[in-house]
Amino acid sequence: MMTQNYIGGEWIAASEAAPDINPSNTNDVVGEFARAGKAEAERAIAAAYDAFPAWSRSSIQGRHDSLKMIGDEIIARKEELGRLLSREEGKTLPEGIGEVVRAGQIFQFFAGECLRMAGEKVPSVRPLVDVEITREPVGVIGLITPWNFPIAIPAWKIAPALAYGNTVVFKPAELVPASAHALSEIISRSGIPAGVFNLVMGKGSVVGEAMLQSPKVSAISFTGSVPTGRRVAQTCISTDPMKKIQLEMGGKNPMIVLDDADLGVAVDCALNGAFFSTGQRCTASSRLIVTGGIHDRFVDALTERMKGLVIDDALKAGTHIGPVVDQNQLDQDLRYIRIGQEEGAKLVTGGELLNRDNPGFYLSPALFTEVDNNMRIAREEIFGPVATVTRVRDYDEALEIANDTPFGLSAGICTTSLKHASHFKRSAEAGMVMVNLPTAGVDYHVPFGGRKGSSYGPREQGRYAQEFYTTVKTAYTFDGNGPYVPKTKSSE
Ligand code: NAD
Repeated sequence: MMTQNYIGGEWIAASEAAPDINPSNTNDVVGEFARAGKAEAERAIAAAYDAFPAWSRSSIQGRHDSLKMIGDEIIARKEELGRLLSREEGKTLPEGIGEVVRAGQIFQFFAGECLRMAGEKVPSVRPLVDVEITREPVGVIGLITPWNFPIAIPAWKIAPALAYGNTVVFKPAELVPASAHALSEIISRSGIPAGVFNLVMGKGSVVGEAMLQSPKVSAISFTGSVPTGRRVAQTCISTDPMKKIQLEMGGKNPMIVLDDADLGVAVDCALNGAFFSTGQRCTASSRLIVTGGIHDRFVDALTERMKGLVIDDALKAGTHIGPVVDQNQLDQDLRYIRIGQEEGAKLVTGGELLNRDNPGFYLSPALFTEVDNNMRIAREEIFGPVATVTRVRDYDEALEIANDTPFGLSAGICTTSLKHASHFKRSAEAGMVMVNLPTAGVDYHVPFGGRKGSSYGPREQGRYAQEFYTTVKTAYTFDGNGPYVPKTKSSE
């Protein structure tokens, strides 16, 4: 079944398949998974298109029950699904299980949202006229996801799409088909009618492109890199009709440490934010901006903690950091580590390939100091276990450097000063701000997203998700209790 896609309510064999390799042990093939072509993508789009009219008017009780069933099953199988996720993506088992639980919670949250849909009824400026403002489903939504959160990101797109009455074509990242397949298998048994949800595994340039080009797709929600996001946006507005788009892209998130910070808190935040999940998080605390009075103590303490990290097989008990996801990403990490050294930054620790019992993409977390914010390692997203430390004079310079970036996803500050924490919350040019917390690690019932080069379009998650997954209708009714509709001056 793994070499099949889920289209129109059936598991359909794909013409091609590709292996899914465990990054902790490249001898371990997680499975062979379908690689769909353009025809299969178009078939899935057509199925979703045909299923839309009935699903968009379906009972909210039925939608609630299906989403709740999906969420409950995901959580009940958290160990097994977490193990599968860690095996194919390389985050540690506790991180994998945590992500699975998160995915389940997201489905449960949106199950509840099905029952909380509401509109507004307001008086018109014209007598005897009522105005109703309601939200309607958008249509067929194409969901394109990255590899670094193989079940949580699909969940936070699929659940609201279905809850608000849309039909879905889901294209997961090529590197993580197993988690996508397991999730889709659960969805396929949840009572959702044929065609409402479709899984098409395959290449972005084939399946993704078919979704972007299709006039039957009304909206695309994409999470991935900036270059792909730009391509998605350009294609989506060049089709007729234009598509609604939601893009979540890269990050280069600053975390400021001020002299008055609690050193233990700051080191914990940096260690977790920069290196956990192998630094492969769009919200990773990759730019540490530290004032002079605490700089050396902070670097020493962080380096000490980094040396104690266990980097090993993601499934081994006691592993703190798993492998990098694949050879391409590893090459990118190593390239940036070389660039940092060439730019004159000081590599204090890490950045070395490690041998473990099994062949895998093991890299020790790297910390650079003496980093100027104009260096490429401070400006470009590396997406690996690499963090930079930039020394600054004071809070004002820290804030200036924190905001001097093309990205704007998450920004953090470690301080015991209410004055600086409050000022930073107001002044950080980022969609999410963290005080005495890592820049990564968010709740699921509140909006998620960024500014500048990190995001485009409405927020994801929580109730804010409805902004993208619904379209607003304003309806006017004259109740007929008069000879004609009187006009006011301002309505003419
Ligand atoms: P990517 O851009 O390479 O791929 C993302 C998805 O787009 C994949 O499913 C891919 O197959 C698809 N794709 C590629 N080319 C396409 C095309 N021409 N048309 C349509 N789809 C296409 O990104 P990635 O390497 O999988 O993920 C890493 C990136 O994702 C990083 O930049 C990271 O910061 C970002 N990310 C952002 C968030 C966020 O919420 N802001 C969350 C996680 C990851």
